[in-house]
Amino acid sequence: MTYTYEQLQEKNRRYLWNPFTQMKQYLEDEPLIIESGSGVKVKDVRGKEYYDANASVWLNPHGHNRQELNNAIIEQLGKIAHSTLLGSANVPAILLAERLVQLTPERLQKVFYSDSGAEAVEIGLKMAYLYWKHRGKPEKQTFLSMKNAYHGDTVGAVSVGGIDLFHQSFEKMLFPTEKVSYPYPYRYEGSQEECRDACLQELEDCFIQKSNQIAGLIIEPMVQGAGGLIMMPSGFLKQVEHLCRKYDVLLLADEVATGFGRTGKMFACEHEDVQPDIMMVGKKLTGGYLPVAATLTSDRIYDAFYGEHEEGKTFYHGHSYTGNQLGCAVAIASLNLYEKDQVVEHVQQMSEVIKPLLKEIAELPHVGEVRQLGFMIGIELVANKSSRSAYGWSTAMGAKVCRRALDLGLLTRPLDHVITFLPPLVSSKEELREMLEIIRQAIQEVTEA
Ligand SMILES: *Cc1c(COP(=O)(O)O)cnc(C)c1O
Repeated sequence: MTYTYEQLQEKNRRYLWNPFTQMKQYLEDEPLIIESGSGVKVKDVRGKEYYDANASVWLNPHGHNRQELNNAIIEQLGKIAHSTLLGSANVPAILLAERLVQLTPERLQKVFYSDSGAEAVEIGLKMAYLYWKHRGKPEKQTFLSMKNAYHGDTVGAVSVGGIDLFHQSFEKMLFPTEKVSYPYPYRYEGSQEECRDACLQELEDCFIQKSNQIAGLIIEPMVQGAGGLIMMPSGFLKQVEHLCRKYDVLLLADEVATGFGRTGKMFACEHEDVQPDIMMVGKKLTGGYLPVAATLTSDRIYDAFYGEHEEGKTFYHGHSYTGNQLGCAVAIASLNLYEKDQVVEHVQQMSEVIKPLLKEIAELPHVGEVRQLGFMIGIELVANKSSRSAYGWSTAMGAKVCRRALDLGLLTRPLDHVITFLPPLVSSKEELREMLEIIRQAIQEVTEA
């Protein structure tokens, strides 16, 4: 039985509560209801097509409905859909773990699965916390994170988050953390280097005072994603790694957004040759098909948990669907496509090709900074270009521009007043050109109206 748009809209109104969505406005606005997808486009139940210009919120690398990925799931489905990883294993979970260890920085040697980026972060935090306990330093039990950071929406992940709009209202639920400034040169009086060095100084001062209580530092390498797509000045991440080693603090790299080619390297840590002790991956891991995430860790950390049952070092953490076969099978097929299609090289080439188009957008009268690392692009809208003054939050200018882009056939979401452009990694030159043209037109029409 098929349903009309109006019937589905009514059922959405009656039964469904969408995430990160003000339902009142959403239901007043003719919600988009997707029915299918192919390549870099999705199609709604009324038959209208849209460019998936944020890759279904930063997931989809290879386009929708890829035969190779579909087949991997079908083939696995003919064997088994799921069995538990608690005290047993399965074939695709083992083979994917091997692939991930081979692909990621050398220090990372073991893979612990979960179902979402937020869970992968929880697991990383718990591992770091218990690591010091098992090592006889239980006083190292707090975490240091960046202001304006985003690590997911579960309570532990929110505790290390720093986006006031999302996180502040939960304050009393959270565990206490240390927070230091993230370098944001655009809003800093001084050069990139001065901004970077001031933040590094703040970090080192914090370590000097408190490193004996700090288990780990968690950071989004190279780009703060949900915080507004803000790139680090070069050299910052490398120095963060250096300070972590100097003060004996574990480095946790949250590659959930940046991992698997998004920034023009397989992992963002590669930009500065950084070796985290713990790395979280998710989002694109399964080609954007199924919810599998992973926390990778070093042998040193793994070994701290390794021992006889009576020693009480077992890591008591897991989820019902940990290591799901369908998800791991499609993740392996996705990694095969990265090799076959040379996806990361494609991102590198295309991110150069689109630079002139981004420059045109940057010249619009209500565009401030346009930030780019690979296919992670943020276009900042400003009320006044010369004073760089932001649009007030209540103007919802970002949402209005995205609404107009939707009418023009392109789907993306704003982060406050930043338009996000994170297209599927396989997007062609022509597709990228058309997508950016729609974004340019939407910004122009809405901000100059
Ligand atoms: C999206 C994201 C998360 C959370 O992942 P979910 O799968 O949505 O729970 C964590 N960290 C970063 C950097 C992210 O971008």
